[in-house]
Amino acid sequence: MPGLELYIEDEAGMTRLGHALAQQSAGHGIIFLEGDLGAGKTTLSRGIIRGLGHTGPVKSPTFTLVEPYEINGLHVWHFDLYRLADPEELEYLGIRDYFADDDLCLIEWPQQGKGYLPQPDLQIIIKAHNDGRIVRLLPYSTRSESWCAALATLT
Ligand code: ADP
Ligand code: MG
Repeated sequence: MPGLELYIEDEAGMTRLGHALAQQSAGHGIIFLEGDLGAGKTTLSRGIIRGLGHTGPVKSPTFTLVEPYEINGLHVWHFDLYRLADPEELEYLGIRDYFADDDLCLIEWPQQGKGYLPQPDLQIIIKAHNDGRIVRLLPYSTRSESWCAALATLT
């Protein structure tokens, strides 16, 4: 599975993609979200978290580093590592405890945690293109290969 490249024309499309990823992952796995400020990483994360059934707000974890969610017994950890000064800080946060097999970790700016993060199931790279976004989905595990295969048939 070489991955998937999608053109998503607006925020509503990003939300729909998030819902599809929520359905495919069923709330398990590690997803990296990469792209410039304003690319749409938080928008897509919000779509995933809401797609799992969360009805409250999903705010950017820019200042808190991580926002936890518990949704019908599922644990979701939404990270934004943009403000991390040194990847070593992740050791003090007890980062390893977050990567339980049953949980979902959404990690914005994973580049900032290089060396302290596990390999993701899925790497998502978002780039501005015309008025919308090009979203590349790169799977690194068998389960995420099947998520991508399913998403390919939806689009
Ligand atoms: P990031 O977390 O990458 O910094 P945000 O999700 O906070 O970015 O902000 C992205 C901005 O771009 C929001 O204003 C959102 O409405 C808009 N946006 C998100 N996805 C798309 C899209 N596919 N096409 C056009 N605009 C989008
Ligand atoms: Mg963000």
